[in-house]
Amino acid sequence: MQAVLFPAPESIRIERVPDPTCAADEVIVQVARCGICGTDVHIYRNEYMSNFPVIPGHEFGGVIVETGKEVADFQVGDRVAVDPNLYCGHCDMCRNEMANHCLHWQGVGITRPGGFAEYVAAPARACYHLPDAMTDAQAAFIEPLACVVHAMKRIRVLPADPVLILGAGPMGLLLVQALRRMGASYVAVVEKQPARLELAKAMGASVAVPAGAEQDAALKEVAPRGFGVVIDATGVPAVIEGAFRYLRPRGTFLQFGVAPNQARVSVSPYDIFHNDWTIVGSFALCYTFLPAIDWLASGAIDVGPLVSHVAPLHDFADVFAKFAAGQTLKVHVHMG
Ligand SMILES: [Zn+2]
Ligand SMILES: [Zn+2]
Repeated sequence: MQAVLFPAPESIRIERVPDPTCAADEVIVQVARCGICGTDVHIYRNEYMSNFPVIPGHEFGGVIVETGKEVADFQVGDRVAVDPNLYCGHCDMCRNEMANHCLHWQGVGITRPGGFAEYVAAPARACYHLPDAMTDAQAAFIEPLACVVHAMKRIRVLPADPVLILGAGPMGLLLVQALRRMGASYVAVVEKQPARLELAKAMGASVAVPAGAEQDAALKEVAPRGFGVVIDATGVPAVIEGAFRYLRPRGTFLQFGVAPNQARVSVSPYDIFHNDWTIVGSFALCYTFLPAIDWLASGAIDVGPLVSHVAPLHDFADVFAKFAAGQTLKVHVHMG
C-alpha cells in the first residue's frame, strides 16, 4: 500500500510499504480521510513521544475490510472511526478511570502505524461505528473533538463565566463552539490571522481580538476583572507565559495546546497562591469518542468551515509544509 512515512525526524517519504496484517483482536480499516494535526508537526520535529520510523495520522475514519478471528462487534463493510489512544484496560490507571495515562499506552500514528496510509490495523476495541449520515470529513474530526470533550470534562465552566481562548486554529475554533454549548456566556478569542478572527465570530465567539499591541486593552474592556477561564490553544511558550495576566482570581487556566516537550515558562507561585488559581492540563482524550460522535451527528458542532484543504496522499509533503507554516486551517488527506 501507499503510505506516508516519517523515517527519521524532519524527514518525509511517501512510499510503498507492506499492507498491515490483522491480529486476532484487530480489524483492518481502509482509510477514507485523515486529518493533519499540530501533534503530527511535533512528531515530525521529534518533540513528542513517538518512535521512528512511523506512519503518522491519528484523526481518521474509514471502512473495515478485514476482521480478526476474535472480533465479534464489527464486520467487513462497517464504517468506523478509530480512537488512536490504545488503553490496556488492566493497569492501575485504566482501572482508575484515567485510561489516557495507561501505563501501557500506545498511539496509532504515534507509536504504531497510523492513518496516512491506505490501510491501518487497529484493535477492534478502539473502533466506533459511524452513523450513516456522518460524512468522512466529520469522521476525521471525531478524534480532535474528543480531545475537546475531554478538556470540557477537565474544567468547570460556570454559567456567565467569561472565557478567553488564545489561538483560533482548528482546535481553538472547536473550543469556541464547545464552550458555547457548555454555557459560557462570553467567549473571547485572540488570534493573529485576520481570516481566523472572522471565522471565530462565525463559530460563536463574542469578540475576536487581533493578537498584538492592542490586545491587552481590548481584553480589559470586555473583561475588566479578567476571565474565569483562560485556555491556551497555541502551544506557544511565550503566549502561555503571558496568559496568566488575563486570569481573574479563582480563575482556571487550561493548557490545551501542545507545547514542545522541552519548553519552559515562568509563572509566579505567589500569584497562583494569592489568586486562588487552578491550573489544569488536558491530555488527549479519555473514552470521549461517543460524546464527540453525538455532538457531530446532532449538528451541535460544525466542522465544515474548519477544513481549508483536502489533498490526495501523494501531496502530503506539500500540504504538511503549509500546515506547519500556519498557512492552513485543518487539512484532510484522502486516500483514493
Ligand atoms: Zn490530533
Ligand atoms: Zn492501562
